[in-house]
Amino acid sequence: MKTVGILALQGDFEAHRKAVEAAGGRAVEVRTAAGLDQIGGLILPGGESTTMLRLIHAEGLFEPLQRFGRGRPVFGTCAGAILLASRVTHPEQESFGLMDIEVERNGYGRQLDSRVVRLPLEDGLRERAGGDDGLEAVFIRAPIIRETGAGVRVLARYLGDPVLVEQGLHLAATFHPELTRDHRLHRLFLAKI
Ligand code: GLN
Repeated sequence: MKTVGILALQGDFEAHRKAVEAAGGRAVEVRTAAGLDQIGGLILPGGESTTMLRLIHAEGLFEPLQRFGRGRPVFGTCAGAILLASRVTHPEQESFGLMDIEVERNGYGRQLDSRVVRLPLEDGLRERAGGDDGLEAVFIRAPIIRETGAGVRVLARYLGDPVLVEQGLHLAATFHPELTRDHRLHRLFLAKI
């Protein structure tokens, strides 16, 4: 069985644990660099990216996490997607630079403080995720992906902006797939391990 680590310093890591298990994987919480040795892939959960970053540094995890992501799959959701980016704005903030995306924090402003929508699946996702029905997406103070590099594939959009993107081993969603009962994205991530 594939083992997925979930960075468990802050945010909704518990919901990800359940989603990984429902998708057929084994989930372990990761709080130390040694914990990274036990896992095939890592999830960076939603939460508050500034706080998460502070805790990551406090635990000496910035470099170990970045190194992990250079060789193995990482799935970042919401704040986790912010951490994966190559550039963060509003305000500027340090990030791992593991995906060639530029994100603006809280990009939807008040308009999208919290909203549940149904996203149509782009072609590349429909084949791989299975099923034709759209993806239920929960947005909570979500960032907007403003720029994507040439190697980044957009798998879903909302209001014209990319909200689910893939680059090589990595996957980033600006919404919270762990908060619905649709586990297709967690299965997609497991397939990368
Ligand atoms: N707004 C948060 C941030 O900037 C992200 C919100 C979330 O993860 N739901 O870090």
